[in-house]
Amino acid sequence: MSAEASAPIYLDYAATTPVDARVARRMAEVLAMPLGNAASAHAPGRQAHALVETARAQVAALIGAAPEHIVFTSGATESNNLAIHGTARLALARGRKPQAPHVITLATEHKSVLEPVRALESHGVSVSILTPREDGLLDIDALAAALRPQTALVSLLHVNNETGVAQDMAAIAALCARHGVPLHVDACQSAGKLPLSLQGVAMLSLTAHKIGGPQGIGALYVAPAHRGRIAAQMLGGGHERGLRAGTLPTHQIVGFGLAAEFAAAARAGESSRLTALRDRLWQGLRDLPDVSLNGHPTARAPHILNLSFPGVEGESLFSALPELVLSTGSACNSRSAEPSFVLRALGRDTEQAQSSLRFSLGRDTSEAQIDAAIAAVRRAHGALRGLSPERDWRSLTPVPGTQAWLGEAGAQRLGAWIRFTLCVEGRTVREAHVQVYGCPQTIAACNHVRRQLPGRSLDALQPGTPEQWRQAVNAPVEKLGRMLIIEDALAALRPAH
Ligand code: PLP
Repeated sequence: MSAEASAPIYLDYAATTPVDARVARRMAEVLAMPLGNAASAHAPGRQAHALVETARAQVAALIGAAPEHIVFTSGATESNNLAIHGTARLALARGRKPQAPHVITLATEHKSVLEPVRALESHGVSVSILTPREDGLLDIDALAAALRPQTALVSLLHVNNETGVAQDMAAIAALCARHGVPLHVDACQSAGKLPLSLQGVAMLSLTAHKIGGPQGIGALYVAPAHRGRIAAQMLGGGHERGLRAGTLPTHQIVGFGLAAEFAAAARAGESSRLTALRDRLWQGLRDLPDVSLNGHPTARAPHILNLSFPGVEGESLFSALPELVLSTGSACNSRSAEPSFVLRALGRDTEQAQSSLRFSLGRDTSEAQIDAAIAAVRRAHGALRGLSPERDWRSLTPVPGTQAWLGEAGAQRLGAWIRFTLCVEGRTVREAHVQVYGCPQTIAACNHVRRQLPGRSLDALQPGTPEQWRQAVNAPVEKLGRMLIIEDALAALRPAH
């Protein structure tokens, strides 16, 4: 097998894109140049400044803006913080209106929007976090109803990074414009994928690393009409027309500019190519039992497909797919302890949220990769469904002359469920089967226990202790609780009727 064939398939472009080789080469060239500080007046400084300004024009062109309205930042997290705190806290400081300024956002926003918005509350800003519809779209009537005379900002994602749902920005911008409320749009996931309009948009966030550029560089577009309504959050030497102090990282900015130029040139073609690949992936998986698409079926970006696979535990599905590089909504696997708050906000229960996978496609995704991903998911899903509670224990072929005994413990909604099915002759176990919904370690421990059951007497059934099973399968100590459920399932064994 060639190295190519065995390399994992990268389907996590919404998290970050590999840097375009042309961008990386150009950045290396710039790093090797004897450049000065772009703010310095001497020749090496002027040379850096010229490179920065070329890149500023390239980034501006991606969104149809004038270059002087682009502010370079360290990424979209900073752009979002600057837009939200820069606007709301200036409104608060000016305090022209009798009541505290008010900010509106949606519960499914990226954390770099939600957290700065939430933090405003401690500064005395009033905050409305709207609940989206079940399809992930913002209800425009709900937004209209939430607007108040003192609303200082509406901040929304164009395309949701988890579900790919694309909001109707034209309608939202028109509503905000009618009420004279500034609109901030996080367009990280839509730039280079969907057409962008600045009509009615006060601020727009971008980041290089979602479009083939380097990590650690982004931009905030600030419309001329909004310029007097935003204050810098990073104070210092007054760079970026006073909106963001700090020496400009010339090589990063050059990389961003080039990536933006390539993204703009490729947008229309990439958009239809990725849409076709995303739809091919969905068509290849949609007949799996109970699989569901998270988010609106058509109002979506071309490159993101988020699916839930109920009946299959998310971390186990994820672990069963080593050939794919993906993101999951599974609590155990993501670094946070929560199942996806985005899917929960769309009304998905914990089990659906935990059994979700996000596939995100990009520049190097091919039809062959999509077909391989479909085959891998179908294989892993089939194997795990065979263990799931959905499978009727009666479908197991019993050993003739034996009686079936069943023992169950846990619950799917709690993340672990186990059922042992034994074929018992007299008081001796002849055959043992296990069905399990749980993390990979729970599955491994159940199988470890199951293998030791044939030949044992029902009077001394339990082969060892939960701690021994944990050690036998090399599970971390935090998983000991899951092993206790195995003990409970063994203790619950009774003759089946
Ligand atoms: N906004 C969205 C929608 C994103 O997907 C991301 C990516 O993680 C960010 C903001 C944060 O961007 P950055 O990593 O540049 O801070």
